[in-house]
Amino acid sequence: VLLKAQQNVMDFEGLGISVLAEVSYRSPEFARILKASENHLRELLKIPENYKVLFLQGGGTGQFSAVPLNLIALKEGRCADYLVTGTWSAKAALEAEKYGKVNIVHLDTYNSIHNANDWNLNSDASYVYYCANESMAGVEWDFIPDTKRTVLVCDMSSNFLSKSVDVSKFGVIFASTQSNIGCTGVTVVIVREDLLGFTLEECPAIFNYKIQVENNSVYNTPPCFSIYIMGLVLEWIKNSGGAEAMEELTVAKSKMIYDAIDESNGFYVCPVEVKCRSKTNILFQINKDKKDILEKKLFDKATNHKMILLKGHGSVGGIRVSLCNAVSVEDVQTLVALMKNFMELHE
Ligand code: PMP
Repeated sequence: VLLKAQQNVMDFEGLGISVLAEVSYRSPEFARILKASENHLRELLKIPENYKVLFLQGGGTGQFSAVPLNLIALKEGRCADYLVTGTWSAKAALEAEKYGKVNIVHLDTYNSIHNANDWNLNSDASYVYYCANESMAGVEWDFIPDTKRTVLVCDMSSNFLSKSVDVSKFGVIFASTQSNIGCTGVTVVIVREDLLGFTLEECPAIFNYKIQVENNSVYNTPPCFSIYIMGLVLEWIKNSGGAEAMEELTVAKSKMIYDAIDESNGFYVCPVEVKCRSKTNILFQINKDKKDILEKKLFDKATNHKMILLKGHGSVGGIRVSLCNAVSVEDVQTLVALMKNFMELHE
């Protein structure tokens, strides 16, 4: 992907222009880029015909607003259920409160997912919202919540295309790109077409799903380069065996690290309940006196082996390993060997 991008930054398809800035969003070349990205995505996720695919700006955070602005009026009462399992879904719920009544269905210490019998879903809700993978808390859903026919909305920003997913179970799926499907700047929205047209009047045009569908995601200048890179990454995923192959890899890679934690006799501990441990963002801590000093030592060692960004998010602390699709099994083996070696030295 990087080599192809490099060539086309210098000379896009032999046209003597750069894909970085000189391919106009109104040109047939960009129309081809856009179509290719959409086709790859439709093929990878087997997206049914009655779903529209949008490439927008504003990130996951933009969608925290766009979702209620477009969907909260699906039912008269203007209320929505939020399954809050971590910081991202909590932020989304807070944003939705600006537009309607929000019912927080699920809230705890962000390290577990309750049994569905304990949720008090509201039959009048316009939609039920959840975040498939809470990247800060290291909590991931390994099932799709049953909402008893209420429209289901999911933030898949941090595990998009790390597994296959049955799109037909959802009303809206969104994902801000980054690690798994390219560089920052573009947000994928997949929306079922019968949900279009309920948008609140005050919704900014760029967040209005119906307007963006009618304009094929180019109501205003789109993030052309990010969409181009995403297309290349999606093609790479297809050529690597698709979402199913990514899922196999993600399961295998995360198991290697969780095994290293669970077999460490308590030297390393993971704060998340086993059944909802994230396969993309693995959180753990060193369970020893002077933990902070030891963790800093581990980060320094890892940096010497070209493994960076292992420090947990500021609000959570500890160690966080992010296993994006491009992280190889060999990379994980190197990390596991380092973890074992570090433990032997400091037990
Ligand atoms: N949801 C999840 C699960 C995330 O991990 C993030 C940030 N990476 C966001 C939402 C926010 O996305 P953005 O920074 O693109 O607004």
